[in-house]
Amino acid sequence: MILTALRHRSCPPWCIEAHTGERPRERAHHGWLHSIELSTHPKFANGELPQLWLDLVLTPRDDGPLVHLQLDDLPVAALTTREAERLGLRLIGLAAVAAMETPPAAA
Ligand SMILES: [Zn+2]
Repeated sequence: MILTALRHRSCPPWCIEAHTGERPRERAHHGWLHSIELSTHPKFANGELPQLWLDLVLTPRDDGPLVHLQLDDLPVAALTTREAERLGLRLIGLAAVAAMETPPAAA
């Protein structure tokens, strides 16, 4: 498997970083990058919609993995995994309330 071959032995299983040219003290582990297109935001001049990017990161400075949120090139937040879980559950709850309790005329 290619990912296994690239992964350093100190990498968490979710790390996909090649770690070329890094010193061990500077090693930052990164997971798969996820994105969500933000359909209610104004489009860029090139016609593309802004993206919310999500990334799992672990650096030597961190006590544990952090979920980084970024709006295109702008960092928005770095959440602990517990904070990310709470945010995810609240987002699902809000979407469920909107889906179940919004009259059709207001949708
Ligand atoms: Zn790694």
